[in-house]
Amino acid sequence: MSEYLSKSCKNLTPYVPGEQPRERKYLKLNTNESPFPPSPSVIEAAADAARNLNLYSDPECLSLREKMAARYGIGPENVVMGNGSDEILYFAFKAFADADRPLVFPDVTYGFYPVFADVNGIPYEEIPVGPDFEIDPDDYLVKGKTVVIANPNAPTGRFLPLCEIERIAAFDPERVVIIDEAYVDFGGESAVRLTKKYKNLFVTGTFSKSRSLAGGRLGFGIACKELIEDVNTVRFSFNPYNVNSMTAAAGAAALSDDGYYAKNCRMIMENREYTAEKLEKLGFRVIPSKTNFLFVESNAVDGLTLYRELKKRKILVRHFTSPRTANFNRITVGTLRQMEILLETVRKILEELK
Ligand code: PMP
Repeated sequence: MSEYLSKSCKNLTPYVPGEQPRERKYLKLNTNESPFPPSPSVIEAAADAARNLNLYSDPECLSLREKMAARYGIGPENVVMGNGSDEILYFAFKAFADADRPLVFPDVTYGFYPVFADVNGIPYEEIPVGPDFEIDPDDYLVKGKTVVIANPNAPTGRFLPLCEIERIAAFDPERVVIIDEAYVDFGGESAVRLTKKYKNLFVTGTFSKSRSLAGGRLGFGIACKELIEDVNTVRFSFNPYNVNSMTAAAGAAALSDDGYYAKNCRMIMENREYTAEKLEKLGFRVIPSKTNFLFVESNAVDGLTLYRELKKRKILVRHFTSPRTANFNRITVGTLRQMEILLETVRKILEELK
């Protein structure tokens, strides 16, 4: 730390992203990326857009927003695009929460929420999830607090039915409810249609997982026109060119290739169920997942040891150190072949540690 760091930044604890090794020697099951490449038309669209990189990108992201509108059954005025959904979440926290409207979110959830709250000086309350990491919707029937729920949740994979999201949104129209749907395409049900009914509901989504564009950095927020205008106030006070033109073109092309991505999602869901069953047979507790990852605890080896043993054998999974999750690992679901390698390696580790 230098002597120049401002007082407000001195106490920040930054988010720690999952490892991104430079070498290609690892089987990467640690950051919930898609094992499938973007579709050929997406690669072509991005390459085409590269020809015009001398020009700034469209700050309105209009053609992409029009495609989003057609895909999600909303108007272009109901959507804002961002540099990953992380950026959209940051904007939404800044726009809709402050000392007068603190944040509430589960104690086991996406690690960026407390970081975004701290960097914006927003107080927050973490509500404990149940013994099986379940979220109790009644805990969020609170007035005057901005609610944030990842649905499905991460790193647990657990999903709340839409009627519960509706109950939370309806409870207090005076405050915003932010639903983070980063993983919704792997078997969840989106709250997007509820944004037409609830003016306080803000839904975020991403192209990083189901649409194979993690490196492109593309996310979005969907809500009534007024909430989108508020987020745009923050966005235009920060960086109007937040989505670069190659990524905008790639995103638009991805929306035209829904069939390719839907098929990939179906394969991931099948592989998830297959892997969960096999892990259970190996003595693991597997939390029910509607995502592209599994949150698992072994009855034979602690979480950190398993993470280290897998890493020694060139498989990366995600291990979190907080007391409630330290005995678990989060494993991204990849191709069937990748899952067979994982299962075989886990089998060997358990055998060796006996
Ligand atoms: N929400 C959740 C729950 C996530 O796990 C992630 C991915 N780390 C994000 C949002 C952000 O994803 P991205 O910025 O790539 O859209």
